[in-house]
Amino acid sequence: MLGAELPGLCDCRRCSRLATYRESHPPRKGLSRADYWGKPVPGFGDSQGRVCLVGLAPGAHGANRTGRPFTGDGAGDFMYPLLHDAGFASQKEAVAADDGLVLHDLYLTNAVKCVPPENRPQTNEYIHCLDYLAQELASLPRLRVICALGRGAYDSCLRLLLQQGRIRRRGDYLFGHGAVHQIEPNLWLVASYHTSRYNIQTRRIDATMFLSLLATVRRLANGDDGENG
Ligand code: SF4
Repeated sequence: MLGAELPGLCDCRRCSRLATYRESHPPRKGLSRADYWGKPVPGFGDSQGRVCLVGLAPGAHGANRTGRPFTGDGAGDFMYPLLHDAGFASQKEAVAADDGLVLHDLYLTNAVKCVPPENRPQTNEYIHCLDYLAQELASLPRLRVICALGRGAYDSCLRLLLQQGRIRRRGDYLFGHGAVHQIEPNLWLVASYHTSRYNIQTRRIDATMFLSLLATVRRLANGDDGENG
């Protein structure tokens, strides 16, 4: 099952702290609570995609408002134009769930489906939400590349792969921007710095770095593993 079809996702309250927060945090100036999605945010994209980008969690005024990952906040404003340039997105703009954006060869989701206070999920919240991520990845029949944005998402992916018996030790898979790890003959795990506003402002990540990473991801998806970025 993908995205909104995931059984139980839309009204999930496994994490009481996050369920309360997603429904009660203050809206942006000029908006009201009614303008906010305020529920778990499902992933979306190409059901035949070979690439899955996994972010951390919905942004308070981005995905938690619009109901679509990375839509309506600084992280998405940075990322979608580059996804478009790399051929993964039909348009550069991502402003609302009904803005016509289509992803090609790409599925986009978050490790934690509810917005966390201060963008920091707790360990038990990552664990509670892992089953949804597992179902999404299992529903991508052509998946070849999982690209985790930020250490939190990366650790969630490793936790899941360990749980599934597909890796033996998380310590063998070090995080670093551009790190590429082969999990199985046809499955790769790629690490990236998160495209958060903070990381962009501090120049921890920039457009050139992210485009280069997307080129690596594309190469791996195409079955060309001769050069790991
Ligand atoms: S973060 Fe995931 S597991 Fe926790 S309440 Fe939201 S959807 Fe449920």
